[in-house]
Amino acid sequence: MSAENSSKKGSLEVICGPMFSGKSEELIRRLRRAQIAKQNVLTCKHSLDNRYMIECIISHDGKKLEAEAIGDVHDIFRLGKDSKIEVIGIDEVQWFDATIVSIISQLIEMGKRLIVAGYELDFRGRPVGQMPVLLSIADKVTKLQAICTLCGKDATLTQRLVNDKPAKFNDPDIVVGGSEQYQARCRNCHHVEYEVEKDRYTFKEFKLKQI
Ligand code: ADP
Ligand code: ZN
Repeated sequence: MSAENSSKKGSLEVICGPMFSGKSEELIRRLRRAQIAKQNVLTCKHSLDNRYMIECIISHDGKKLEAEAIGDVHDIFRLGKDSKIEVIGIDEVQWFDATIVSIISQLIEMGKRLIVAGYELDFRGRPVGQMPVLLSIADKVTKLQAICTLCGKDATLTQRLVNDKPAKFNDPDIVVGGSEQYQARCRNCHHVEYEVEKDRYTFKEFKLKQI
């Protein structure tokens, strides 16, 4: 690499959308293309995501790519700052704490191409963690849609079902003893149960404040 190239800044691509929209598939596709171009790629995933195998990103369709399971967000910087690394992929980026923003920003300054995937809305339809910030500072945003499980239209939301019923607004993120399930849904088919009318009101107010 010439001195001129080595001083160039990097970039941030964010891939978002509801569950089953193909975020992992798209992340794997972009990272594989970088590998085909003989670039040095670091692939990271949050260590919480141990649905299948801890050392791989696996899409719902079974596509997989080896990855570092990251528990401490600082490890992304420690591994990514290596001068040999050119491209850094991060799956389930919404699970990292606020430090992820400064880590990604520093890696961009160092010339790295960051490609991150994560859902931007929780099961209530509310923005998640640092996703609004990452979407704002991104150079390129890809917002994917899944297929609504009920009506077949484009799905932009994730429906959470607990014991086959729509999850309640105030349900904790993990329901102990409940059997839970997630589905892709369009706006019309997406439901959140409100225990008291105040929940619905607060939620509407919250949405208005976002505008
Ligand atoms: P994400 O990372 O967004 O959760 P994945 O990349 O893991 O999505 O999986 C996408 C794949 O999930 C699709 O290619 C398709 O095979 C499968 N799939 C299952 N249910 C749906 C759905 N409701 N809409 C679209 N794809 C679905
Ligand atoms: Zn629908």
